[in-house]
Amino acid sequence: MWAVSRTVKRAFKYRFYPTLEQAAELARTFGCVRLVYNMALHARTEAWTLRREGVGYNATSALLTGWKKTEELAFLNEVSCVPLQQALRHLQVAFTNFWAKRAGYPSFKSKKRSRRSAEYTTSAFRFRDGELTLAKMSQPLNIVWSRPLPAGASPSTVTVSQDAAGRWFVSLLCNDTITPVPAPGTVGIDAGLTHLLTLSTGEKVTNPRHERADRQRLARAQRDLARKEKGSANRAKARLKAARVHARIADRRRDHLHKLTTRLVRENQTLVIEDLTVSNMVKNRSLARAISDAGWRQFRTMLEYKADWHGRNLITVDRWFPSSKLCSTCGALADRMPLNVRSWTCRCGSVHDRDVNAARNILAAGLAVTACGDGVRPQRESSRTGRSSAKQETRG
Ligand SMILES: [Zn+2]
Repeated sequence: MWAVSRTVKRAFKYRFYPTLEQAAELARTFGCVRLVYNMALHARTEAWTLRREGVGYNATSALLTGWKKTEELAFLNEVSCVPLQQALRHLQVAFTNFWAKRAGYPSFKSKKRSRRSAEYTTSAFRFRDGELTLAKMSQPLNIVWSRPLPAGASPSTVTVSQDAAGRWFVSLLCNDTITPVPAPGTVGIDAGLTHLLTLSTGEKVTNPRHERADRQRLARAQRDLARKEKGSANRAKARLKAARVHARIADRRRDHLHKLTTRLVRENQTLVIEDLTVSNMVKNRSLARAISDAGWRQFRTMLEYKADWHGRNLITVDRWFPSSKLCSTCGALADRMPLNVRSWTCRCGSVHDRDVNAARNILAAGLAVTACGDGVRPQRESSRTGRSSAKQETRG
């Protein structure tokens, strides 16, 4: 089974530098995407609350055609129609997730806080000789190819976005071929408080370097921002500065997590994690900061799709499993284990590092699942293989 290669959808993300003309066109497109999304959301909400009428994707698509014919919305015709259609599809997905109880009710896109992005499908871009040209543009985008696309790859979807720091990105969704190679290891992974992660092998993984210094810089930038007068040019400058520091922190963390998850998946055939839901842990206020820093959710998402790509077993053990209080040597349960206890001695004489012991217990519980499927829940079959999970991937 190992020789079989598989094709996965994978997104490759790059920075690019638009011309003034392209930047203006994209800004217009982002605005129209947001407007169409919000109008369709309003129409669907109103139809349901007032008339108990379900409005699906096709109906919103017909609405869009109507809007374009009106005088006040005629400007919608000036941008490529594909990103507008895609916005309606994204809204449809948001509703599907809501009905499946995977997400809350879809919310309106705000001008300031929402991600500025537009999605183009094959009919709305041309990719030729390594050059990408979007609909309504005469020149190809000036992309910084920081790493190569897979040989012969041709993107099926292109997403253009601009972050709060003003940087432009283009993400190309391509088919990529992966040939899973067997790995010898098994590993239990404990989400840390003092460390980002602790492995059952005894290894402790720390947060990215410079994160602490960057956080102090961010706090300073945010204090500066708060002092500036509302609406002033200095405030806009201060906001951009804070956004830049924030973007750098997020970039470094993502890089760090990509390297980490790639290594874990390469080295191990079976990986066991705890099913910690972040919202659950954040209730404990002393943990909140550490959890958000650790980016556990991001880590888990990456681990899920990479394990799937490489044919690894990712097992999740119940979050109420007493991993910290259980002796991994003799199985005795300690009475209580306050968070400040970093190491402890069991009645059997074993001396435990709190986190390593927890990681070992998580591994043992996970392996018990594969043996008899009892007591803990196996990882849910990933419904997010293929496209949507591949979209998470940016750097591999
Ligand atoms: Zn013991």
